Amino acid sequence: MKQTKAFLSSKKLVAPDVAHMFFYVEGEGFEFNPGQYVILTVPNSPTPLKRLYSLAGTNSNKNVFELLIKFVPGGVASEYIRSLKIGDNIDISGPAGLFSEQKTPSNKVYMVTGTGFAPIRSILASKDHLTTNRSLFWGLKNLSETYMFEELFSLKHSNPSFTFSYCLSQQDSFSSIPADLLQYYRSGHIDTVWDSVKPIVKPEDEYYLCGSRTVIESLRLLLLSRGVSKDRLFFEKY
Ligand SMILES: Cc1cc2nc3c(=O)[nH]c(=O)nc-3n(C[C@H](O)[C@H](O)[C@H](O)COP(=O)(O)OP(=O)(O)OC[C@H]3O[C@@H](n4cnc5c(N)ncnc54)[C@H](O)[C@@H]3O)c2cc1C
Repeated sequence: MKQTKAFLSSKKLVAPDVAHMFFYVEGEGFEFNPGQYVILTVPNSPTPLKRLYSLAGTNSNKNVFELLIKFVPGGVASEYIRSLKIGDNIDISGPAGLFSEQKTPSNKVYMVTGTGFAPIRSILASKDHLTTNRSLFWGLKNLSETYMFEELFSLKHSNPSFTFSYCLSQQDSFSSIPADLLQYYRSGHIDTVWDSVKPIVKPEDEYYLCGSRTVIESLRLLLLSRGVSKDRLFFEKY
């Protein structure tokens, strides 16, 4: 697998503990398929330590890649990444992973938690046009954890076949949200919100799940029990 040095070129906190980061790769750069991840080497750890991070942006520029990182308090890689300054370099290898979108005209349903949005963002950003129906259910705890609303909103407006909902498990009041935007914010876990839209599971629909291991496993079992076939269910567990 290819080893690469990448330089941090931009870092923006998009939620209290989540950073959207851009890295620059010199020379020929590297290519990836949307949905894949990189393997980060954490230096100076007592034992050699590797952590996986999904590529979060378009694959159109071989010299730039994006990551969406949740800083887990006390996490070894999280603290290392949090300390990075613009111009610092990191060692990565990759790309790796088989999570990717099928090139079919089928409806796509994305169910993600937290930074599990990263590979879906890459899939969406790497397309010129969104021609098939796509709906995103993004599980987070509360409004303060939500991010990238403007981006999703503008994607929806340029692609009527795309819809999205933040599924907020610990938010009951939405009084701070303007009435015309309330449709994008739902109270409850992903499965509850998905149920509330009264889904009709069609045999050809495809489901893409990514994020927290336990949530993804329970969603996977739920979808199987609702008749989604195994070969239309794609998942990446963090
Ligand atoms: C294929 C793949 C892709 C991934 N992509 C991303 C990505 O795009 N963005 C991203 O932020 N992470 C991603 N992860 C998770 C990432 O690899 C690390 O596991 C995460 O950053 C924590 O590593 P750490 O070294 O900071 O914490 P560790 O030192 O490994 O853990 C510290 C403590 O935090 C707990 N912990 C670990 N992760 C979490 C969590 N998410 N929430 C709460 N507690 C936790 C651990 O149980 C432990 O007690 C991905 C994982 C996989 C398998």
